[in-house]
Amino acid sequence: MSAQSPSVAIRMMDVCRHFGDVKAVDHLNLDIYDGEFFSLLGPSGSGKTTCLRLIAGFEQPTSGSILLHGQEMAGVPPFERDVNTVFQDYALFPHMTVGQNVAYGLMIKKVPKAEIQRRVTEMLEMVRLPGLENRKPSQLSGGQRQRVALARALVNHPRVLLLDEPLGALDLKLRQQMQIELKAIQQKVGITFIFVTHDQEEALTMSDRLAVFNHGKIEQIGTPAEVYERPITGFVAGFVGTSNLISGTVAERLTGSSQTFSIRPEKIRIAVPGESFGDEMCAITGTIRDVIYLGINTRYLVEVGNGVDITVVQQNLDADSFDAHASRGKQVLLVWNKANNRPLVGV
Ligand code: ATP
Repeated sequence: MSAQSPSVAIRMMDVCRHFGDVKAVDHLNLDIYDGEFFSLLGPSGSGKTTCLRLIAGFEQPTSGSILLHGQEMAGVPPFERDVNTVFQDYALFPHMTVGQNVAYGLMIKKVPKAEIQRRVTEMLEMVRLPGLENRKPSQLSGGQRQRVALARALVNHPRVLLLDEPLGALDLKLRQQMQIELKAIQQKVGITFIFVTHDQEEALTMSDRLAVFNHGKIEQIGTPAEVYERPITGFVAGFVGTSNLISGTVAERLTGSSQTFSIRPEKIRIAVPGESFGDEMCAITGTIRDVIYLGINTRYLVEVGNGVDITVVQQNLDADSFDAHASRGKQVLLVWNKANNRPLVGV
């Protein structure tokens, strides 16, 4: 490896984990680098948690190989791996105080008492919970419990932290706040975070890179911008954000080829009557079939023939909800730059 390339924290080589006929993880190849915030994103049952449990050592691969910092993990039990897991239900000890919960791992390792106290205090400050050391978990809010679980995992100074939908139980506002905090904590401690989520917005907000899972396989790996702007499969285009998938005769009319492509609703606009365009633009007429007014913007469903609907999102610069709804049934011309068309594989 060259001096410039980042070192690999986790390498999964052709890893399978089958449960009978269910291919929970199916020929997975993945490198996660040291210090990355990496998300495993996908719908329920796509294999994200199994992948995390394989890295943690709670599951063994049916075949294939997993390396942690260059070391083969076959036969290495979870407690001997330099990783810690934060679970969705936090798994805090209810009879222990916050301080005792955070100190637990260090006590097991027989770290001296003064050192434990110092590290627990430092961690509670890091997760913004100073002064709550003597509370029991039942006396905390959901967000505070989440922070205790995080402090408990980080106090051991693992090289890799695995997080399984850790924000799933929180309400939307708190979840958004914790997303920012979690990312800030990861940058501060500088260790590798592997984060499981089915929430595409969460994955896009927090990750350095992410992998999109579908039926035990990875469909695409990339930065949030790459995955969002250049989805390579129909599944990714549909799962990460909203996309129009255009194929067949409509695609042929627009591009000269029937190959399926995706186009994001926010890249399309409704043309001003009489407007003219260059060759770099796609243009198609249609009828507004439905209008969903969303305050900041409006979503239009436009029927363009052959039973195909195109979704368009327009910012409400001048239009109000009355204008938006009054446009139902109108004929419009949709235009967008061809450069925003994304050809897809596997559709
Ligand atoms: P979720 O977001 O719902 O947690 P996931 O993407 O994490 O889903 P997994 O929990 O990894 O998905 O499950 C992948 C597939 O493997 C599912 O079909 C699941 O039912 C199956 N599976 C997972 N663990 C087991 C097990 N111990 N025994 C049998 N099947 C299992």
